[in-house]
Amino acid sequence: DLAGLEQAQRQLEEQGIDVVRVGYADLIGADRGRDVLVSHFGRTVGGGLAFCRSVFATTPGGEVVDFEGGMSDGLPDVKVVPDLSTLRPVPWEPGVAHCIADVFDPDGTPSAEGPRHVLRQLLAEFAALGLSPIIGPELEFFVLEKSDKTATGWHRYGEATGNVYTAGLKGDPDSITLETLRTLGDYGLDVISANHEFSSGQFEINLWHGEALDAADRAHRFKTAIKELAHRRGQLATFMPKPFNDEGGSGYHLHFSMLDDQGNALFDDPSAPHGLSTMAQHAIGGILAHAPAAAALSNPTINSYKRFGPDTLAPWLIDWGLDNRSAMLRIPPERGAASRIELRLGDASANSYLVIAAMLAAALLGIRNEIEPPEPLVGYGYDVAKAAQLPSTLATALDALEADQEMTALLGPKFVAAFLAYKRDEVARFQRWTTDWEFAEYAYHI
Ligand code: GLU
Ligand code: MG
Ligand code: MG
Repeated sequence: DLAGLEQAQRQLEEQGIDVVRVGYADLIGADRGRDVLVSHFGRTVGGGLAFCRSVFATTPGGEVVDFEGGMSDGLPDVKVVPDLSTLRPVPWEPGVAHCIADVFDPDGTPSAEGPRHVLRQLLAEFAALGLSPIIGPELEFFVLEKSDKTATGWHRYGEATGNVYTAGLKGDPDSITLETLRTLGDYGLDVISANHEFSSGQFEINLWHGEALDAADRAHRFKTAIKELAHRRGQLATFMPKPFNDEGGSGYHLHFSMLDDQGNALFDDPSAPHGLSTMAQHAIGGILAHAPAAAALSNPTINSYKRFGPDTLAPWLIDWGLDNRSAMLRIPPERGAASRIELRLGDASANSYLVIAAMLAAALLGIRNEIEPPEPLVGYGYDVAKAAQLPSTLATALDALEADQEMTALLGPKFVAAFLAYKRDEVARFQRWTTDWEFAEYAYHI
């Protein structure tokens, strides 16, 4: 709308901003976009920016994967339209503001592959039922420094180990988390707190909960910001799920509650078992029932499946428990307005829009189909006699997603087809690649 645009342009000028970075998530959750001079930003909002559709089909190595509407159709344009409500000055980049965009096909319909669209159209299903999912993302990541002593060229930042839940110089000698926390606060990401995680060089920063699309937008920006800020220090921040064999992985936990359109908390019911409403129970039932398909989106890399395992604080089995961190789904002890589910399935490599969409689609199926969960886990959660196992490879998770027609229908069949094509290409490339593990295992002894 024109009035909104004029107001935005005036604000940008007052803030001394001359460039808007228009960005959107690709399939793997990387921010793709362009820097646009403010003098041309108005036109961009009106007509959109043209990008080659390969933006959704290119792998990190630069290969273009084929799927419908892609290479075989001559790689047409997508049109990228900034969402003015997301315009924010970038604190570490004077003169620059960031604006999240939506992606459209040439005929003006939202691109089925656009992760923000996948979440948006799912949220419309909730809105039609008068429901508003509330999401609080928690992301873990490693910070690495350059090294000439390691094969990768990187080693973990800071020497300390076992400093989980510490703040200050002990695990973070250069105070980078403190600085990052302040900067992300200034960026409007509504970050709450930062701490050292279990592994050396591993940190966690939590985002305050909010309406699902807003939470996804903030989490998407968070991942980009963490990487940008590390790059400026000559470091590498990585959301790779399991970068080291001798250390734990990085999770992407989601706290999830539900409001009705009057703002009432719907997962709370003091008179129900465990104080959890029927809706909450069904949401849990749905997430458990559709976890193998959801894993394809919440654990979307080859490396993701190396994080799963017994005794890891990452999940391994499809189970839920009351304040039990060894379960895939933990119900934190608070009730009332804070009644919520913590899904511990996802890892940090997930696309922020897709990890939330996967959980919400599974929960919606549970609510619609009134899926009752089994009794909650009691005690140790890694006992394979107690529950079914999660997929153990990306290939199996992708097969589970393809086989799950209800999840596919909710996420969009065209999106699922593109995602499967993109990720199966990744599986096939890895399948052909000889790793250092194989050399060590076989070269000398066979
Ligand atoms: N790093 C663990 C994971 O991979 C989670 C540890 C925690 O509970 O914070 O999910
Ligand atoms: Mg943690
Ligand atoms: Mg957590």
